Formats: sequence, C-alpha cells, structure tokens
Amino acid sequence: MSVDFKRSSRSQVRAISGRPASASTTMELWQGLSAAVVDKIADNWHETTQKYRKGRRQHYFSAEFLMGRALLNNLLNLGLYDEAREAAQAYGVDLSDILEQEPDAALGNGGLGRLAACFLDSCATQNLPVVGYGILYRYGLFKQVFDRGYQTEHPDPWMEEGYPFVLRHEEAQRVVHYHDLTVRAIPYDMPITGYGTDNVGTLRLWRAEPMEEFDYDAFNSQRFTDAIVERERTSDISRVLYPNDTTYEGKVLRVRQQYFFVSASLQQIVDNHKAVHGDFHNFAEYNCVQLNDTHPVLAIPELMRLLMDEQGLGWDEAWDIVSHTFAYTNHTVLAEALEQWEISIFDRLFPRIMEIVYEIDRRFRADLAARGFDQGKIDYMAPVSNGHVHMAWIACYASYSINGVAAIHTEILKRDTLHDWHDIWPERFNNKTNGVTPRRWLNQCNPRLAKLLTEVVGSDEWVRNLDVLAEHEGAADDELLARLNDIKHANKVDFANWIEKRQGVKIDPDAIFDVQIKRLHEYKRQLLNIMYVLDLYFRIKENPSLDVPPRVFIFGAKAAPGYVRAKAIIKLINEVGCLIDNDPEVSKLIKVVFIENYNVSPAEKIIPATDVHEQISTAGKEASGTSNMKFMMNGALCLGTMDGANVEIHEAVGDDNAYIFGAREEELPELRKTYDPRHEYETVPGLKRVLDAFIDGTLSDDNSGMFHDLRVSLLNSNGYEPVDVYYLLGDFADYRQTRDRQARDYADRKRWAQMCWVNIVRSGRFSSDRTIRDYADGPWALEPQAI
Ligand SMILES: *Cc1c(COP(=O)(O)O)cnc(C)c1O
Repeated sequence: MSVDFKRSSRSQVRAISGRPASASTTMELWQGLSAAVVDKIADNWHETTQKYRKGRRQHYFSAEFLMGRALLNNLLNLGLYDEAREAAQAYGVDLSDILEQEPDAALGNGGLGRLAACFLDSCATQNLPVVGYGILYRYGLFKQVFDRGYQTEHPDPWMEEGYPFVLRHEEAQRVVHYHDLTVRAIPYDMPITGYGTDNVGTLRLWRAEPMEEFDYDAFNSQRFTDAIVERERTSDISRVLYPNDTTYEGKVLRVRQQYFFVSASLQQIVDNHKAVHGDFHNFAEYNCVQLNDTHPVLAIPELMRLLMDEQGLGWDEAWDIVSHTFAYTNHTVLAEALEQWEISIFDRLFPRIMEIVYEIDRRFRADLAARGFDQGKIDYMAPVSNGHVHMAWIACYASYSINGVAAIHTEILKRDTLHDWHDIWPERFNNKTNGVTPRRWLNQCNPRLAKLLTEVVGSDEWVRNLDVLAEHEGAADDELLARLNDIKHANKVDFANWIEKRQGVKIDPDAIFDVQIKRLHEYKRQLLNIMYVLDLYFRIKENPSLDVPPRVFIFGAKAAPGYVRAKAIIKLINEVGCLIDNDPEVSKLIKVVFIENYNVSPAEKIIPATDVHEQISTAGKEASGTSNMKFMMNGALCLGTMDGANVEIHEAVGDDNAYIFGAREEELPELRKTYDPRHEYETVPGLKRVLDAFIDGTLSDDNSGMFHDLRVSLLNSNGYEPVDVYYLLGDFADYRQTRDRQARDYADRKRWAQMCWVNIVRSGRFSSDRTIRDYADGPWALEPQAI
C-alpha cells in the first residue's frame, strides 16, 4: 500500500508535468500528489455516494464554504502523510514546501463559511449522510494588499492553475431558468474525507455556464459583442462571492446567484428521490435541508414550484412536504443580515417564484389573522411587506426547526429578534452551539501539541473524540507544564519565521503574542483593541521605565470593500504600528503586526502560536464566534466579553482560567439610558489622550478625515445612530485593567501553563463533532451510514 501511493503520486506528477518528478516544479508536485489522493479515494467515494442516495439524507445549503487548503488535511485523514513526505524527499523537495503551493479555497467570508467547512469534516468523520451544496466561485474572497497602510482589494483566481480536488460532472448538469436568462449549472464535486473512516462525503459546488458553448450565429453575423455579453452575463453568476450590492444591479446578481444554486441542488434532490422512491409522499422522511443563514431561503418557494409545476402536486401536499423539510440557522442579530429584496427583483428574475411567495404570504396572513393578531403585527411579520420580500420571515414560517448558534444568541433570538415567531411556534426553536473541527484546528495545525496529547491519552483517540481529554486534566505535572510552554515557544518561533519571510517583519518570540483575527467589523471592536495599544504607547512614553512585559499585538482582518469605517480602522491600526516602530524606546517593548490577507491558512499558523486571544465584541452582538474555540484548543487564554460562545467557554473553564471584562448583555439597556461617552472621555485614565491623538497630528490619515470620523462616531451623536453604538468608551476602563492584569500574570509561567492546559482539556464541547451530533440527534434525525 505504501509503495502504492508513492508510485501513484509519481505517475500523477509525470502525467501533469510531462517530465520526471525530479524535474517537475513544486506546483506540479502539489498537483500530482493531490491527484494521487483523489485516485486513492475514488472507489470509496463512489461507494459512499451510492449508499447515501438510498437512505435519509441531510443537505447543507450554504452560500459560503471557507475550505482553506485540502492536501494536508486529506493526507492526515487518510494516514498518507509519511508516504507523501517520503515521496517528496525522493523528488528532492520538502513536503512543507509542496503544501505551501496550494491556494486557499476561500469561498467564504468568515465564521459562517468556515463553520460550513468544519461541519462537513465532522459529518464525514462520523459517517453521516450529509452533502454540502454551494457555488464554485471563480474568484474567492478578494486578496487584501496594504498600500501605505490602506486596504486594497485584488482578485483571487484560486483555481486558475488547476485544482485537482474538484471534479467536474458534466453528466449531472441541470438547467436553471430565469425570466430573462437560461443557464446550465455544472456540478463540481469536492471529496470530503474523514479521520479514521473509509466514508468520503461530498461538497457539490455549481458553476454557471451558457446553454451553448458559443453563439456562432451571433458571432458570424458580426454581432460579436452580443455573443460575448451573453456569455459574460451567465459567467457573472458564479464569478464572485458577494458581488457589491450597493447598486440595484448588484442586488439582482446576488438574488440570481442564490436562486442558481438552490434550484440546481433541489432539482437534483427531487430527481434522486423520484428515482429511488417513485413518488413524493415520503420526501420529508428521506430529505432534510439545513439553510445556513438566509442566503439559500429561495429554496423554500423553489421546492414548492418543483413539486407543484414539475411533479404535479397540489399546494397543500407540497406545503406539507416543504414545511417538514427545511431547518433554518440564524447567524446574527445585526439588522443587515436579515436579507430583504425588492419585489421588482423577483418580478424580473422569476415571476412564478414571486407568485408562490405571494401565495405563501396570503396564507400566512390568514393564519395569523385567525390567531387573532393585529394588522400591525401581521404586516411586520409577513413574507411580503413594504415592497420587499423578507427572507428570514419566509424561513421562520416554513422551517420545522430554527436554531441560534450559541446559548446566549438563541436566547436573544427568542427574546428579541424572533420573539414574535417564538410566541407562536416555541417548539421550533433550539440551540446548536457552534464548534470547530479538532482535525484541522489542532491535529493538523499544531503537530507538537498533537504529539503531546497523543502521548498523554495513550492513542490518537482524542482526534475523533475530543471529550477524552477531560479525563487527563490531572496529568498536568511540572514536567508536562514545562513541555507545554516549550511547545508554545517553538510554535512562536515558527510563526516569527513565517511572518518575517512573508511580510518582512521581525518579532520577538519571547514576547506575549496577543492576537485578534476575524473580519473587521465595528461590533467586533478592533478599534477598542488598538486604542489600548495606543494608550500603552503613551504610558511607556510618559514613563520609559514602566514595568511591562514585551508584547506583540497581532491583527488579521479583511474589511468589506464598501465598509468605509472598517477600512479606516485598518488604516488606524497600521498607523499606530508605524508610530511604535518609529520610536526607538517604545519599540523595544511593544509591536503591532497586521497579518495581510487573513485567511484559513494564516489562521493555522498564528493560532498555535498565540498566548492571548481577543474576543471583545460588545455583549449581545457576536452570535457565537468560532476562533475563540480554535484558540482554546491550542492553549491560548481568552480576553473577552460575556458574548457568544465566550459565555460557554467561561462556563467550561471558570473565572480562574479566562479573563472576562465589560458590560453584560443584560446590563447594557440600563447603562445606555444614561450613557454619555463624553464623561468617559474626560474621566477615564488615558482615554482623552488616545482619542485626541486621532486628530492632533500624532497619526496621519493623509488629511482624509477618516480618523476624525472614527473619533466623532465615539463622541458625538449624529442623528442616524446613537453615539458610540458599540460602547467602546464604556468598556475601556475595565478592558484596560483586565488586559494589564493578564499581561502581569504571564510572568508566572507555570501558573499560565496550568491555565492553558485547563483550556485545552476542557475544549471537547467545542468540537464540531459535538455540534453535528446535536443536529443529527435532533432536527436532522440522522444515523451514521458506514460503508
Ligand atoms: C474561524 C475563522 C473565522 C471566524 O472568526 P471569529 O473570530 O469567530 O469571527 C474567520 N475567518 C477565518 C479564516 C477563520 O478561520
């Protein structure tokens, strides 16, 4: 078998490069090894697919899958790592250099997309019959490049050089009709291997292609551009993730994308059900669809359409099926995520779907009127109102299950965001606290710690069952704690080398690595973080002999291209970094590093090297967070608010092993009543100096006024939004105190390691294996189907 894989990878490389492996490029070696992995699993993959077709299945619909790299993950899952390393050696190359060739499949934005990827991993590992469905975007999330400290965006053509882990299935194509356009949907399947199992799951990504390869008539009759324009209009559908939707045409494209992948996926599911079962009376017994946020909610009217128009069912029969098929996950309480679209977009793209939505709306209104609701409430909750289609309301009405993604988040949904729905259908609501896969986020990214855990446990059982670690909490004797510190230090040296090579910055591995990596958003409060750093800069300036431990403040974040204030915060962080670097005294103690183009693979480098992770969102705003869980598993200590899954992490490790600060979610409404940030500005130590530095020339925004705007947003009400919406100034004093205390605590290396150990061994409940078990035992009602 070992000879097998090595030999197979050698011939794959040769087939790709047309040269001996030893004369092939590193990219070609990556291609060849990857193709050899696919070759290795092809039979099991086919067998798994055939098996899943016949029983009850769960279909996971998501506009995002933030997969990251695939080769290393597959090698480790399949137990092929050592052979791949030997193969690479034989070609005269380091396996790690080959692995670094792989582009990230960045088909997502952040946590929501990464969650979908972790879920697929857990489903495969647990032999659960689950298929993911999404879009094969030609360009992943934009590539971020800093230009004088400003974010600029560049295309990420991630599969232009060929990508062996998606397989085109021309024969399984579907046709998707719009009122103004008809396109082919071609499935590209990505194999999802699991750890220690032969089952291979599937992620099916659809790509839009024109009905005819090329319109030769148009071309020949000199209407050359017409031929091109039509092609481009089709290709637009799977060109980019989240096209700019600030214009009407941008919105149309987004809705077109959403319909594209749900229609193609449902056509396939319906066809398959008919082929296996003959008719539809048991459709909901064999199929359930999880809607990952509102992006795939068009699946609800589309399944109605398919069952009625194509399969001849009546409304009641079809609705009965639909309302037992869909389950909806809400991911945020921020208003912008509750998608609503102008009716005119639906009219233009698919009048028949609009007709069905109106009928859903009509019946909904009748239902609520019969329950005695007043007109105002009915109008608020109706699928169609104010000229818009409300996707979240359709989801709440048609789904048999509605879940939030952390305990506090689900409670807020029940109490605020969706409380009208909860009043009527309380039984639909349930919580599924998010999780992350310990394969990628521990075993794969932190081999040193993985080795230690395997030693402590006595086997690699923890990789499939993270809960076993809890039995070994008592193993932390002095020797183990010293090893834990050594491992962290070695990981920090690795990260320091990586970031120096990548961005040319030098950092001290003996400093505390204090990390905040996540999408840039005001509610996540990167601004609060950098305000602390700036305050610390001033404190050191004021008193150069201040006794503070050396620290590196590490950021990683992309801002949405149209989100002006988020981009201003990026510039501010980079400016504070420059200010510190240019000061010969302060720069001996602290440093700011901004990881450019943050993504899954950079996350895999920084997380194992982190001492402190910042989870500092305004309480009530972060639905769950998942980077907090990745850090916990890797033995970093949380500095966080009582928000999202931090609450449950805190519950798991206790006050002694986490640093919690800030206003609680339940306190905020009362606090806000009398809140006057001007008062904090005047009285909280350090604040005035920090906020004045935004505008007094200490930091430069090239006279754009963007730092002035940030300051104004914290100090002055503007009529649109309350002043300091995210309560930065209100939480600053507590944040400063807690963060100072944490930095001091770092000096007791043994006590610190003990805290890290407690975090690691109690992280079992944050494995996505647990989350997926909760779904499978609950709304999905799924049994494992090992091949
Ligand atoms: C885990 C992850 C996220 C989510 O981070 P949060 O801090 O939970 O928002 C975002 N992006 C990437 C690349 C991730 O791996």
